[in-house]
Amino acid sequence: YKEIHLANRPEGTPTNEDFAFIEKEIPSLADGELLLKTLYLSVDPYMRGRMRDVKSYVEPFKLNEAIAGGVLAEVVDSKSEGFKQGDIVTGRLNWAEYNVANAQTVQKVDPASAPITTRLGILGMTGLTAYFGLLDIGKPQEGETVVVSGAAGAVGSVVGQIAKLKGARVVGIAGSQDKIDYLINELGFDAAVNYKDNNFKEDFKKAIPDGVDVYFDNVGGVVSDTVIFEINRNARIVVCGTISSYNNPEADTGPRIQWKFITTSSMMKGFTIGDYAQEFKTGAQDLAKWLQEGKLKYEETITEGFERTPEAFLDLFEGNNLGKQLVKVAKP
Ligand code: NDP
Repeated sequence: YKEIHLANRPEGTPTNEDFAFIEKEIPSLADGELLLKTLYLSVDPYMRGRMRDVKSYVEPFKLNEAIAGGVLAEVVDSKSEGFKQGDIVTGRLNWAEYNVANAQTVQKVDPASAPITTRLGILGMTGLTAYFGLLDIGKPQEGETVVVSGAAGAVGSVVGQIAKLKGARVVGIAGSQDKIDYLINELGFDAAVNYKDNNFKEDFKKAIPDGVDVYFDNVGGVVSDTVIFEINRNARIVVCGTISSYNNPEADTGPRIQWKFITTSSMMKGFTIGDYAQEFKTGAQDLAKWLQEGKLKYEETITEGFERTPEAFLDLFEGNNLGKQLVKVAKP
């Protein structure tokens, strides 16, 4: 089977040459282990950070070793009592067609409760990121204006919908007219603005007649400078991601408009989803309930074929995805 290794540490935007497909033999299983066939794998912007050799909240990927991330897989052989052939599981596994994993490192997925891919998106890491970042840090109140960047992506689309459930006025920022239409017509955002338009600043100001109370930031850079300039008194800025700078060879310096925080008594707080590990169950239950009740919608962009994994990853930086970007590797 094939496995994807990090072949180089990319400088700037990664290319196909930074990924190597390595042929591996399926090893025999030890007690407690599972042989897993990958069905879907998740490609995520944060993985770009792990391709750098710098100290961060997660270890960097090692050169010439497998890249790992969120995977949905089927048990094809089990040496663990709790698992049988045909079970669907999820875990942090290698970007590989097969994985051998200790049974304690994966969780079972119930295919009857929701489509299994939701466990890599709205009911998984990205949904929980939206949930905890918005509700614990952003704390949107009824009638407030919540702005979210990266709004048509996996995290952003959930942020906007939860903010609507809490009675806020929601404004999305995204990079194409199709995404703007989707946010307004499908997800019920009150307004949405394309940051690639020449009139972005003017359009944005028109979209926030009452200013900005909560800003959920997925992108950083000039989009965020524009939003932060418009914050109200006691605004809350949730720093979730800065994808606009992930491929910059030099680190951005900033924030550049600190005085705004002084004059409005506002706060800006970062987080990683791991901060909320103790509360994942509660978050996942709420998200599943809202999904069942039809209060949350989600979109997936599914790239077919394991060999297209690098392409799917690179698409994130081009904005080619609507909702959660996944790779379909095999049929269940
Ligand atoms: P998305 O599904 O949002 O995909 C990335 C999107 O980013 C693209 O679709 C694109 O949309 C947008 N984008 C790409 N380049 C730029 C740019 N230069 N400027 C502005 N927007 C850009 O990914 P996720 O939902 O998985 O992640 C969103 C953010 O949340 C990322 O920054 C990620 O790192 C962060 N994150 C943080 C976590 C945490 O624990 N703090 C956990 C999970 C994610 P468009 O067409 O609109 O440009």
